Amino acid sequence: MKNMHNTSTTAPSPVPPRRTRPPRVDWAALAPRVATLRAQGCSTRETARRLDMNIKTLEAHLRRHRIRHAIPMDRPDQVRRTCLNCDTAFVADGRFLRLCPECRAMFS
Ligand SMILES: [Zn+2]
Repeated sequence: MKNMHNTSTTAPSPVPPRRTRPPRVDWAALAPRVATLRAQGCSTRETARRLDMNIKTLEAHLRRHRIRHAIPMDRPDQVRRTCLNCDTAFVADGRFLRLCPECRAMFS
């Protein structure tokens, strides 16, 4: 059982408790290096090792990045969609398309 009334700290802390953790990774600086290493063919593990970072941190970053930038849309009438059938992200040619190309082929 933990002692919640720890009296060993005598000096009152002037710093208010932080709600959010400070960013441990400066992605603005690291992202280009990650991209370079990935472009050179480094695996996620290798990239993490070379940049001296936690692989889980890198994986989480790549996952977020992939979701945000996975599919480039080159036409204004294209819409980002998630397939109703298989949850695959895809770009639909129109807003009424709700199935990915594979599922559309399967159902038609
Ligand atoms: Zn689908």
